[in-house]
Amino acid sequence: MKSTDNKKEINQSQEPKKGTIKAKSNAASGLTELFEDGLKDIYWAEKALTKAIPLMAKNATSADLIEALNSHLTETEDQIIRLEKVFELIGKKATAKKCDAMEGLIEEGKGIIEETEIGVVRDAGIISAAQKIEHYEIATYGTLRQFAETLGFEEAAALLEETLDEEKGADKKLTEVAVNAINVEAAEAD
Ligand code: FE
Ligand code: ZN
Ligand code: FE
Ligand code: FE
Repeated sequence: MKSTDNKKEINQSQEPKKGTIKAKSNAASGLTELFEDGLKDIYWAEKALTKAIPLMAKNATSADLIEALNSHLTETEDQIIRLEKVFELIGKKATAKKCDAMEGLIEEGKGIIEETEIGVVRDAGIISAAQKIEHYEIATYGTLRQFAETLGFEEAAALLEETLDEEKGADKKLTEVAVNAINVEAAEAD
């Protein structure tokens, strides 16, 4: 089309570099919007985890692991409520938007379960999958807390930090469960 050709010529100096992805029409234009998008993403992820964690617990054998997963499920439910408070604090309706990363991490966890015999080996696999999830959450809440601080949402920042600490705690507990029993026994099963 002729008009497109003209446009191309005019914009030539600002032509994006090869590989640059074109922004969607609703793309975030500022940090507030990026913050909101991040909240929607992790809100979806936490909700998905209230279904994924019980599945992991059902497939676990170690009493310590089952306890760690169940107690983190309770925390996850609290984290959802905390996120709803954060939305309220910034004057937005709590909305979930699919988190592609969490969907993938949960899928990967299911794959690990399928690929392991029930017992210590599956337990070790579940811990590895759960820790990948916790690390994603730690990264996410670290960023969101920082965004909230930068944007001056002090109360929201404090709530996000509370959740960040719970995610770090869950990760640490999983390491302890693995180190204390499961990994050694799983190695003995070789
Ligand atoms: Fe969480
Ligand atoms: Zn995500
Ligand atoms: Fe990601
Ligand atoms: Fe978590």
